[in-house]
Amino acid sequence: MDCLSFTNQLFLNTMKTLFCNAGPGMNPKSRYIILLILMVLQFTAARAQSKQYVLQAGASLSNITPFLEGGIVGNFGVPPQAKYIHDELFAKSLVLDDGQQQIAIVIVDNLQISREVFDYARQLIQEKTGMKKENILLAATHTHSSVSASGVDDQRMNFNYARPLDEYQTFVAKRIADGVRRAIYQKEPAKIGWGSVQVPQHVFNRRWIMKEGADVPNPFGGQDKARMNPGVGNPDLVRPAGPTDPELYFVSVQALDGRPIGLLANYSLHYVGGVPADHISSDYFGAFAGYFTKLVEADKNVAGFVAMMSNGTSGNINNINFRGPAEKMSSYQKMQIVAKDVAEAAYKGSKGLTYKTDVKLGAVYSELNLEVRKPTPAMLARAKEVLANPDKMKHYHQQEPTYAKRIIQIQENWPDKIDVVMQTLQIGDLGIAAIPFETFAETGLEIKAKSPFKSTFVIELANGSYGYLPTPEQHELGGYETWLGTNRVEKQGSAKITKRLLEQFNQMKK
Ligand SMILES: [Zn+2]
Repeated sequence: MDCLSFTNQLFLNTMKTLFCNAGPGMNPKSRYIILLILMVLQFTAARAQSKQYVLQAGASLSNITPFLEGGIVGNFGVPPQAKYIHDELFAKSLVLDDGQQQIAIVIVDNLQISREVFDYARQLIQEKTGMKKENILLAATHTHSSVSASGVDDQRMNFNYARPLDEYQTFVAKRIADGVRRAIYQKEPAKIGWGSVQVPQHVFNRRWIMKEGADVPNPFGGQDKARMNPGVGNPDLVRPAGPTDPELYFVSVQALDGRPIGLLANYSLHYVGGVPADHISSDYFGAFAGYFTKLVEADKNVAGFVAMMSNGTSGNINNINFRGPAEKMSSYQKMQIVAKDVAEAAYKGSKGLTYKTDVKLGAVYSELNLEVRKPTPAMLARAKEVLANPDKMKHYHQQEPTYAKRIIQIQENWPDKIDVVMQTLQIGDLGIAAIPFETFAETGLEIKAKSPFKSTFVIELANGSYGYLPTPEQHELGGYETWLGTNRVEKQGSAKITKRLLEQFNQMKK
């Protein structure tokens, strides 16, 4: 017997006792006090009963493929114009509803998306559906073969909060909002399960400690201790400068009869690449979804099924084994190998999941104020010299003019502090943290280790995009991700973010 039926029974029996049997001899005052206590008990039980969670879920795909001729961002130099669509780009939505509240997770095929685009999408969703904007997690995958949705051509100078959204940004925001609304309309009674497996063979730390005396210049006239992408088989390699996180997470959502509705995966791999310069592609993120869908299709009706791969904490992780041997692959070949492998691992892992229909959902959202890093007077002076004599100066580092421009922009156009979105979601015993930076694997591993939830993963490039987020220890080593202009916030940023996200997890866990 559940709590409510028990108190109902108790209520009826006691009423009978009070008013029919022993009741008449009783002091009327005590009789009414007992009655009052019982009514409160019954009311409390009824409320507890209404807190039962009954899952509903819906998923959708919104096409966000850009027009041809847009500049493809993701590399240094002038963005090449898009001439060929290898595969369509999507905003993929998963909406969950526990009967008390709804959450939405949207994974978008783009390099990085500015907060302004995501905020606009959130606003549209809230206006149309009433869904709390704090309960909506929006993230980019980090495909390097998309046009900019961060508002500028140079992908790494995307901080332009004062500028109105351009045509593509507006389009992406509206497609995200439509996608969430469609997922809401699609909602049906559902069950959910999650788990993880280790897939270590496709993740490598791309920052390396180099031999004493090796030339590791930076674009500010100094030398670093760590080098990004040092080249396969470089004789000066000593060891990777940090760990990898080989955990592949998957959250599987099915209709009550077992028909697949959606799958949200999470893996800490920056991207794979191997895409011709003028091609639009969703990279391995999209290929993963294709392979996963095919695997599910083999034994189930998959109409309407949406598989999505979110990026974990992969700011310092890529797919290149620098110990060698070097691999020769044709376009898209490596991406297909990785996507297939990861999809098979997720499929195999998700077969043994236990599904639940009564999970509690939750969301906590806050803003964290971070200091913006500014150049020193010496850095500024050098930058001005580089830019004043671009031809005459023998460049110490080939990216010197690029970084000279960036640090002057940071000095002149950036505020001293910025507010970034910190978001955590709860799905039963699973905690999801969202970070608006290209986050290092160390940070993801720390959040997972210290999380009060049984299972935890982290989605990066969520709710905005502000460049790389090395840990304070990695800042000491230098290297591309730590350079001012690649990284833009204070060196303690990752520690402050980790602290805040863990506080939010603990708040949800109460
Ligand atoms: Zn990148």
